[in-house]
Amino acid sequence: MDELRELYQEVILDHSKYPRNFGKLGCATHRADGDNPLCGDKIRVELELDGRMVKEARFEGVGCAISMASASLMTESLRGKSIEQAKALFHQMHETCTGQSDHLEAGHEPVELGKLVVFEGVRQYPLRVKCATLAWHTMRNALVGGAEGSS
Ligand code: ZN
Repeated sequence: MDELRELYQEVILDHSKYPRNFGKLGCATHRADGDNPLCGDKIRVELELDGRMVKEARFEGVGCAISMASASLMTESLRGKSIEQAKALFHQMHETCTGQSDHLEAGHEPVELGKLVVFEGVRQYPLRVKCATLAWHTMRNALVGGAEGSS
């Protein structure tokens, strides 16, 4: 188990040091800002949708290692997903981080979390759950709001 935990930490550290898909997206169709005042994390998520498919996902912002790593891993895993799959991932991620199942959305189809499983450990640190899920909440708001939805 300790080895697994170390591996998780390595993935999180790597993504927080070298965030993937960091920066502005020129042709964003959907965008939203999110912040987590408890920790000081601020993030903007931009998506480019092609029909109902996420073609590109980028983010920028400042925050702790967990919030940045989460956003980085999220943008990686969103690319090529449908809107439905992106929402399903959001719920799966939420369940993984909180350890609680999302009863309101019980009907969603299970999706493969892949690398996102590294965030399983945050459920032991309730204050960190918001850090790990900030990018995901922001992404969901972006999907709902479109490019002018929030700024
Ligand atoms: Zn944080």
